[in-house]
Amino acid sequence: MASPQEILEWIKRDNIQMIDLKFIDTPGTWQHLTLFHDMIDESSFSEGVAFDGSSIRGWKAINDSDMAMVPDPDTAWIDPFMAEPTLSMICSIIEPRTGQPYSRDPRSIAQKAIDYLQASGIGDTAFFGPEAEFFLFDDVRYDQTQNAGYYYVDSDEGVWNSGREEYNPTTGKGGNLGYKPRNKEGYFPVAPTDTLQDIRTEMLLAMKHCGVPIEKHHHEVATGGQCELGFRFASLVKAADYLLTYKYCIKNVAKKHGKTATFMPKPIFGDNGTGMHCHQSIWKDGQPTFFGNEYAQLSKTAMHYIGGLLKHAPSLLAFTNPTTNSYKRLVPGFEAPVNLAYSQGNRSASIRIPLSGDSPKAKRLEFRCPDASCNPYLAFAAMLCAGIDGIKNEIDPGDSLDVDIYELTPEELAKVPSTPGSLMDALKNLETDHDFLTAGGVFTEDFIENWISYKLDREVIPVSIRPHPYEFALYYDC
Ligand code: GLN
Ligand code: MG
Ligand code: MG
Ligand code: MG
Repeated sequence: MASPQEILEWIKRDNIQMIDLKFIDTPGTWQHLTLFHDMIDESSFSEGVAFDGSSIRGWKAINDSDMAMVPDPDTAWIDPFMAEPTLSMICSIIEPRTGQPYSRDPRSIAQKAIDYLQASGIGDTAFFGPEAEFFLFDDVRYDQTQNAGYYYVDSDEGVWNSGREEYNPTTGKGGNLGYKPRNKEGYFPVAPTDTLQDIRTEMLLAMKHCGVPIEKHHHEVATGGQCELGFRFASLVKAADYLLTYKYCIKNVAKKHGKTATFMPKPIFGDNGTGMHCHQSIWKDGQPTFFGNEYAQLSKTAMHYIGGLLKHAPSLLAFTNPTTNSYKRLVPGFEAPVNLAYSQGNRSASIRIPLSGDSPKAKRLEFRCPDASCNPYLAFAAMLCAGIDGIKNEIDPGDSLDVDIYELTPEELAKVPSTPGSLMDALKNLETDHDFLTAGGVFTEDFIENWISYKLDREVIPVSIRPHPYEFALYYDC
């Protein structure tokens, strides 16, 4: 645990010029303010640094805009992407007049979820291990002049699709197919088929530089440049801090190489989408609580946690899968969960219990619905709240589903509840099912109302009133 004093000494010792303060907005993007180093002193770590909150998406009104960001000294690292020595810190937001956490600050909400866990007596730490996938595309999307645009509108289907100049995966027409991964075979031949190994290594090492406990990287199943990097699981707030650092490093390294990285859940029609499976478990008094004698060596606590996740999934997805595009990923046939069920080792179920040998410490569950378009502070907090609700009310998760769900007959499938079909559906469910989120004061009613109206007004409705490229294929000559 670094202290404010240690940070101030570090600034002097390493001749740090600039201090970059980062915080998360409601949709989940890092915002930042850069200060000359002499603007920071010990009081900055308690009273915070003032800024105008009125222009931050989903926050305060213009007439009530004063806010303060309080840097967390435990999140300090030297920003590897800045020319001058710049020390970066992640902040939580407080109301300057009262010093209380701002009720719409996602990082403060995440902290409250842990406070609630502790107050409930169920545990003292919740660990999260997110696996955020992403696509790397050449940064020439809008360069149509040389027919080199990475995206094009497919003339037969009228859909946005990805393409390489040589090969069109939809039509199968194209040039030299040597060393090109075949459709859905991106996971994971070596170089030269894998052309992104060096760039992923650079991304992973940048993360290490920023204090993230790195583990691995690999190409993913989709062939248009889908990748995944891995870092070690961490406690809830830390894991969300790491995830934002992960995105920051990936996007900035990509940019350096003339590429862009996107965490959009379904950028390419007809190929795998981009998920963010979340491994999770609760610990108490330094001991794991998910290991036991129930199904797949889970404890009763873990079974009830699953019960809570499955029961609330229809509304929970408004936070874990919070974009209109999220629901284009949750369709059959692309390794993304469509049905709300749990199983050991079955990747077509929305909750998987990974094999962990006999190790109680490694016992965890993997919720496969989330995608990386979520705000991880909100998504992790919401999942934990659903799990706590399951434990408190001893919610029975029902029977496991140990078959490939994609292979079930329509009659069998009808018995398995499915994920919501759209963001609109998930928001409607959230409207009626959110007591599990407000219990323990984690989310406020105001936050949930604001979330629903923000998502409807800024995303669902604007998307629904725009003509879609595929509508031209369907209806242009109707
Ligand atoms: N991309 C898949 C998804 O959308 C997951 C693929 C994998 O990691 N096995 O969830
Ligand atoms: Mg993985
Ligand atoms: Mg993966
Ligand atoms: Mg996984």
